[in-house]
Amino acid sequence: MEHVRIQIHGIVQGVGFRPFIHRLVGEFGLNGTVKNTSSGVELELEGARETLEAFLRALPGRAPLLAVIEAIDADWGGKLEGYTDFRILRSRVEAERNTLISPDIGLCPDCRRELLDLHDRRYRYPFINCTNCGPRFTIIKDVPYDRPLTSMGRFPMCPDCDREYHDIENRRYHAQPDCCPVCGPHVFYCDAEGREQPGDAIEQARATIKAGGIVAVKGLGGMHLACRCDDPAIAARLRKRKQRDEKPFALMCRNVEAARRLCEISPAEEELLSSYHRPIVLLKKRVEGLDHLSENKTLGVMLPYTPLHVLLMGEDLVALIMTSANLSDTPILYQNEESLAALRGIADGFLLHNRDIQTRCDDSLFMVLDGKDYPLRRSRGYVPFPLRVPGSRGGILACGAEQKASFCLSKGDYVFPSQHIGDLKNYETLAHYEQQIAHFERLFDSQPTTLVCDRHPDYLSTAYARERAEREGLPLLQVQHHHAHMAACMADNGLTGPCIGLIWDGTGYGDDGSTWGGECLIGDYAGYTRFGSIRPIPLVGGDRAMKELDRVAWALLRDAGCDTGSIPNAALYESLLTAGLNCPESSGMGRLFDGVAALLGLKTLAGYEGQGAVLLEAGIQEDEGSYPLAFAGDPLRFDWRPMIRAIVAERAAGVEAGRIAARFHNTLLEMAAVMCRRAAEASGLHDVVLSGGSFQNRYLMERLPARLAREGLRAHRHIRVSCNDEGLSLGQLMIANTLYYE
Ligand code: ZN
Ligand code: ZN
Ligand code: FE
Repeated sequence: MEHVRIQIHGIVQGVGFRPFIHRLVGEFGLNGTVKNTSSGVELELEGARETLEAFLRALPGRAPLLAVIEAIDADWGGKLEGYTDFRILRSRVEAERNTLISPDIGLCPDCRRELLDLHDRRYRYPFINCTNCGPRFTIIKDVPYDRPLTSMGRFPMCPDCDREYHDIENRRYHAQPDCCPVCGPHVFYCDAEGREQPGDAIEQARATIKAGGIVAVKGLGGMHLACRCDDPAIAARLRKRKQRDEKPFALMCRNVEAARRLCEISPAEEELLSSYHRPIVLLKKRVEGLDHLSENKTLGVMLPYTPLHVLLMGEDLVALIMTSANLSDTPILYQNEESLAALRGIADGFLLHNRDIQTRCDDSLFMVLDGKDYPLRRSRGYVPFPLRVPGSRGGILACGAEQKASFCLSKGDYVFPSQHIGDLKNYETLAHYEQQIAHFERLFDSQPTTLVCDRHPDYLSTAYARERAEREGLPLLQVQHHHAHMAACMADNGLTGPCIGLIWDGTGYGDDGSTWGGECLIGDYAGYTRFGSIRPIPLVGGDRAMKELDRVAWALLRDAGCDTGSIPNAALYESLLTAGLNCPESSGMGRLFDGVAALLGLKTLAGYEGQGAVLLEAGIQEDEGSYPLAFAGDPLRFDWRPMIRAIVAERAAGVEAGRIAARFHNTLLEMAAVMCRRAAEASGLHDVVLSGGSFQNRYLMERLPARLAREGLRAHRHIRVSCNDEGLSLGQLMIANTLYYE
């Protein structure tokens, strides 16, 4: 007999870890105790040495889905206690609020099987769940995570469910949202006027969809609008009613095979699609005729992640448009009454239920690059799990940017990034942002002692941070936008030392008060220098040039010495520029994309931010060529004028827009290579972090790391948070962490 004390570090609390240990210990016939500690879980076991060692070997591979084991320490040779059974001990630590909260988890295979099993007592029950799946974050009102403090509080368990809940051998042991048709919530269907209809709710929703209607469906973190995807007229009706201009729609496909009929799917993409996170994954279109869903070369696809989705698809619906239900950039709708009111005239029917959503959480969005997940939106299925960022200290609230707002709250070396919040310029979104900050502080029991925000004086996140810092007497740090992007990508990759940051995005407030965005920085968390950028572009009419892309095209042509006669209103722009009226300069990479998209006639009036870049990428026809490069000044500016002159000449010579689009992208790749090589020569550094919204571009991301490798440079891209402004709060937090604590 031997005694061993086993410390398991990582995310092992609130994920069904102790019941798992209980079962595993039983299998090996060991005795002892388990308890939660402040850093994980501690086991005391006694048994034969080889049995204990076999137990230790088996443990990591069989841990619960959500557990993240970072280290297992075994301490042999303790005093024998002579245990006669195995006990779960209550610890003092549990009184503290340090339990992690699980994200919402997609329907597991066991529950799916029961859902479709005629003889199961939960046959076709749309709220079936277990310890391995179901709603979590979105139904929690407060901690500790116990049924009474969730939306399930109003549904007392029936004796059958109660028995499962207390049976440690059962898959539903301590599953807080566990329920069944006898004791749990139910679905109902309302017509277009919001009148509840008698009969089978799911069948009525299916009938409306099959007949070409649009149905609002209550999901995990909010409402979706669902309709058929095979008919462009239906998609057009949805766009018109929702005023969703031209943004792509996401699809829900009944399974991977159904998705494969529309898109190419690599093994890594299949794995991500079917993972318990169930994000939307951007997949390359395989067939023609999907332009009514997305004008890009990719389509956003997800698999059913709730039992209700599975029942809605049924046997015959293969793929549906499944787009979040929100109105003109306000947050996703999530309550029954507000949805019935807000979606009147938009939805032809409502598939609702009486399990309340407490917290909005949009679908997450990913692409897969080189077999690895590349996050574009980290939300449902991921949030509120923390990132462990070595070197992080607690007590910092990073307030993010504005259009793709998010925040990060730290506690110890855990950083809790918020879900997708949206554009703070809407009153409702700003209110949602403030509520979520308060919610996170309560859930994770972390009261910030330091605030950090962007340097942009007009961001509403800046206003929030300033007001709060003043009210609570807290220190406030304002961080340059692209430095924060850079730091976010460093933290994401565990880099701490100095490196090169290639940061390309649309807009960010520069230290000189102008707009930056085509930046090459050298630095670390503590500071940076602006090594390079792009030649500034004057924006006639300021913000109007963000929408009216002709204005940018005009500025590019004029500066390059080309004929501007083809641009309507050229004379007006000339007089505005000469008078110096509202013509701020921007070195944003997004503007270069916009201007070239307009030059090629792809788009003159942008329907959404970044559309110029989306259309340029979508239009690419394979071509190896590129345009002449020129650089000048300090910071080293990419002079795009020779490129513009070459594009104009090729247009005149009748070269297809798709080839020019490819050569434009290739030119940027070459430009990045030269810029980073020079930064490396100047600094002696070889690590390059890639961040900023322009790196949502798949064409660039599939080529840039290899191109930089040819220069002897090591490229790092985001792996856990987004490259766009949503990921930036992580960088703000790490910068504050360094400046305040080191
Ligand atoms: Zn399950
Ligand atoms: Zn029940
Ligand atoms: Fe940005």
